Amino acid sequence: MKIKTKLRLGLGLLFLMILTLALIAARHVYILKEDTKNILADNYNTLDYAQQMLLAVDGLNVDSAARKIFEQNLIKQKGNVTEKGEAQATQRVADHYELLKADPQDSKLPGMIRKDLADLTQINMRAIQNKSDVAVNSVRSAIIGIALTGTFCILIALTLLVNLPSNIGNPIRELTESIKGIAAKNYSQRLHFSGKNEFGELASSFNTMAEKLEEYDSSNLSKILMEKKRTEALINNMHEPVIGLDENKHILFANDEAVRITGMALSDILGKSAVELAVHNDLIRALIREEQGISPFTSPALKIYANDKESYFEKEVVDITIVPTGERVKKYIGQVILLKNITPFKELDFAKTNFIATVSHELKTPISSIKMSLQLLENQRIGALNPEQQQLMEGIREDSDRLLKITGELLNMSQVETGNIQLNIQPSSPYAILQYALDAVKLPLEQKGIDLTVQNDHDLPDVKADLEKTAWVLINFLTNAIRYSQQEGKMFIALQNNDYGVKFSVRDEGKGIDSRYRSKIFDRYFQVPGSAKTGTGLGLAISKEFIEAQGGAIGVTSEIGMGSNFYFELTRA
Ligand code: ADP
Repeated sequence: MKIKTKLRLGLGLLFLMILTLALIAARHVYILKEDTKNILADNYNTLDYAQQMLLAVDGLNVDSAARKIFEQNLIKQKGNVTEKGEAQATQRVADHYELLKADPQDSKLPGMIRKDLADLTQINMRAIQNKSDVAVNSVRSAIIGIALTGTFCILIALTLLVNLPSNIGNPIRELTESIKGIAAKNYSQRLHFSGKNEFGELASSFNTMAEKLEEYDSSNLSKILMEKKRTEALINNMHEPVIGLDENKHILFANDEAVRITGMALSDILGKSAVELAVHNDLIRALIREEQGISPFTSPALKIYANDKESYFEKEVVDITIVPTGERVKKYIGQVILLKNITPFKELDFAKTNFIATVSHELKTPISSIKMSLQLLENQRIGALNPEQQQLMEGIREDSDRLLKITGELLNMSQVETGNIQLNIQPSSPYAILQYALDAVKLPLEQKGIDLTVQNDHDLPDVKADLEKTAWVLINFLTNAIRYSQQEGKMFIALQNNDYGVKFSVRDEGKGIDSRYRSKIFDRYFQVPGSAKTGTGLGLAISKEFIEAQGGAIGVTSEIGMGSNFYFELTRA
């Protein structure tokens, strides 16, 4: 049965019962009223008339007023005959009165009338008694009737009171529980309401919804699991080691390659804190070490024993951030560490460096002997040279100088690349370094007619430096400045005392360097596009290596068309 019908029936029944109870009570009250009214009308009046007549009997013979009262009451009594035998008794009174009227002297008749009136009174008194009994019975049956109907109504009302709220409340409670279950992702929740009422329909709709959610959830879960497996397979099949960390640096995943190079079992690292593992594992320590200020691409290669040989890996750390659903701010959720195997490149690089070192070393001796021969040829004792020969000689000397510079740079570079720079760091005088460099560039300066201004602070402290290598850097700055300065241009050298130590700067008023290339000119083999291709692009790269190996810093400020200012700083000794 529908809830609506149930409620209607329940409330309707209650209404009906109240109505019945009221009707029964009203009926009984009406009966009681009728009973008492009868007593008053039927009997009390007769008693009154009989009383009036009785009082008038003694005066009937002498008093016409008494006769009048008697007759009036007799007429009223005749019109109020209600009881059995009352008509005869009234008739007897009337007959005896008529006889008395005919024979007023008859002394027996008043007595007979009195007896008749007594009979009349008697009849009515008995009737009153009977009617009172009937009224008492009516009251009793009214009480019983109302009590019975009332009890019945109370029983039904109680049944409704107990059943109706639970009939509606229980399913609602069960529904609430099930909805809470669904909200907590317990999609196996079902409702079991029998019957064809609204709750039955609700239960069937709810169950369909729960079933669909369950199906959706399991299909989604299997899809996610499938995707997870696919991603895992993909990561595992990568030939490069990959390790994933969560925001607390716990290892989330590591592919086979990564597990192999760490030398540990996967079960020993999964879910473990990388920071704790790093205490005993050098590789993991190197992986999670954060190199401040160094981009992942320029961080030094990791040397790891893998594939039965010393291998080189480049580390790339990718921070993973997400924007959580409903939020706007990015949240860091971990990082992925990728190791790129650069061993083949390293091997090629080594081969190249060795080749360059060998070639430049082999070239150095013949070039030196060419220079020696040139010096001998210049000697007047061997024989005078005519002007053309002199010019040719000049050309040969310039070329061999350049060749010697290039081979020197290549040799230096190969030393830098193989990590074989031999530095002789000791407290060195900045003035000595300056003098060394100035002596070396004296000739080219004069040849180009450049006006060089040297500004140096007094009482400069000694610096921690390899004198020759630092002078080499300064010479490189100076030769570059000479090369890019105008004929008879201006150049400035400054040696300044600062918090750090001493700052050496070389400023020219040449063409300057485009901002796009400023950060690249210290890279190996880099030459600004469009510049004279006479050099190797190695001078500044070697300078950077030399200065940084001595704990110093190197840099440039330049404005296109306004000249350049190259500088390096060295710490005080
Ligand atoms: P190179 O041997 O080719 O000069 P360097 O490493 O010394 O190599 O210089 C790299 C590049 O920097 C050069 O190709 C040149 O374009 C630029 N450069 C260096 N010094 C200056 C300077 N004083 N003015 C303008 N450009 C310069």
